[in-house]
Amino acid sequence: MRAAPPSYDVGVSGAIDLHAHTSVSDGTETPTELVAAGVSAGLGVLAITDHDSTSGWDEAFRAAVGTGLTIMPGIELSTQLDYASIHVLGYLIDPANADLVAATARIREERLHRAEAMVARISADYSLTWDDVVAQTTPGATVGRPHIADALVARGHVPDRSAAFASILHWRGGYYRPHEAPPPVEGVRLITAAGGVAVIAHPGARGPQRVLSDARMRSLVDAGLAGLEIDHRDNPPSSRPHWEELARRFGLIRTGSSDYHGTGKPNRLGENTTSPEAYAEIIARGTGSRPVG
Ligand code: AMP
Ligand code: FE
Ligand code: FE
Ligand code: ZN
Repeated sequence: MRAAPPSYDVGVSGAIDLHAHTSVSDGTETPTELVAAGVSAGLGVLAITDHDSTSGWDEAFRAAVGTGLTIMPGIELSTQLDYASIHVLGYLIDPANADLVAATARIREERLHRAEAMVARISADYSLTWDDVVAQTTPGATVGRPHIADALVARGHVPDRSAAFASILHWRGGYYRPHEAPPPVEGVRLITAAGGVAVIAHPGARGPQRVLSDARMRSLVDAGLAGLEIDHRDNPPSSRPHWEELARRFGLIRTGSSDYHGTGKPNRLGENTTSPEAYAEIIARGTGSRPVG
């Protein structure tokens, strides 16, 4: 009798959702609350992928003990190319990797300066102070437009985050500033060198779709890129055949995820999921940390 291929036996029951945020970045729930939401949603595996930070991992691991939910440790690294924001998911990285720690500290710092600059611009036309934004941010969190959005909501300028993103915070809204970040090829290298598995988040979203030519994809694959997050609400259906073709051509893992942000976005846990086979491949490739639970 032939043994089943071990790489496909990861003992997972329940759906696998590999992209979610907490209050460590721009999600509205603490890591403990995220885990509870994952349990309520009946998930088998949930990844914690805060923007440019791993500081929610330990709390999520502790909260998951005894729940039956497995936590996949991850990060969503901010990178930039031709003014497009490219997000690179990194699973199973070593959170203490010195180069990655230095790069993420720097990106968080750049994000802070950029948020301050945006608030300075907005405050010329709307009542809004930097303290308003700080009041909406967990100490040490990766600051982004969602925190400015929450401050605008608290001031009564807009009804919710999505309305803020559609108007004042829109990239064409007149107040937008990009933030500096390394190019994606550097992000993929950093994640891979930290033992992680690099996956381009929502490649069909406006920015990545515009700048990720086939030649650039080849460079990313050469730098260690492992996968593409094809099943994600920000990839328009018309964009997906292209990314599916690239995944086949370059032998990339196909993932699917919710990109849950708590009440900050309409995305629901488990609305898109990753196959057990793809999950097993990620586990087989990652060496910097292990899933917990
Ligand atoms: P930033 O990275 O600071 O430019 O802000 C973009 C981030 O805001 C992305 O990670 C989005 O996921 C997040 N975001 C949170 N809530 C919303 C929303 N309601 N609409 C659009 N983006 C949102
Ligand atoms: Fe986000
Ligand atoms: Fe993203
Ligand atoms: Zn995300």
